[in-house]
Amino acid sequence: MKIENYIRDIQDFPKKGILFKDITPLLNNVEARQECLSILINSLKGQKIDKVVGAESRGFFFGMLLAQELKAGFIPVRKPKKLPFDIISASYELEYGTDSLEMHTDAIQKGDRVLIHDDVLATGGTAKAVCELVEKLGGEIVQCNFLMELTFLNGREKIKEYPVFAALAY
Ligand code: IMP
Repeated sequence: MKIENYIRDIQDFPKKGILFKDITPLLNNVEARQECLSILINSLKGQKIDKVVGAESRGFFFGMLLAQELKAGFIPVRKPKKLPFDIISASYELEYGTDSLEMHTDAIQKGDRVLIHDDVLATGGTAKAVCELVEKLGGEIVQCNFLMELTFLNGREKIKEYPVFAALAY
């Protein structure tokens, strides 16, 4: 079972010049999904995790599977104005301008051991903002993990103070 066979390249999506990595074939296959989940779980080498934080929106899929397997809470980090309770926010840079991400203030207790998950590590801006949110609430980041890493964009550099794991690298 090779999980890379379930990642589809889409040229010029969402705009010209971008090669988009589409994970929907992976989501749609039980064995590929299980294999990918096992790879991510094994990378943790039995470390205890209290909370899994998933970044909107593709980080929710495996984020929830990881949380269930690890018997940990699941925390959605969302784009602005989506979360209904009290929030904290962190901003990050886009190609043009900035955007921000939000998390509920009661999602993490001080000292919680946290796993951060997203589908793709590209420039690292998203992951960095999620790390900021977790640390603002006193969480301890055990690992940031991803289904895949686009190594040529050097995202690891932005989150180099944390352990980073990606199931696939391009
Ligand atoms: P970064 O902030 O530049 O690291 O971008 C990571 C975010 O962009 C993640 O939340 C991804 O879901 C999304 N992303 C970037 N490139 C791709 C891609 O090729 N496929 C799917 N999502 C992507």
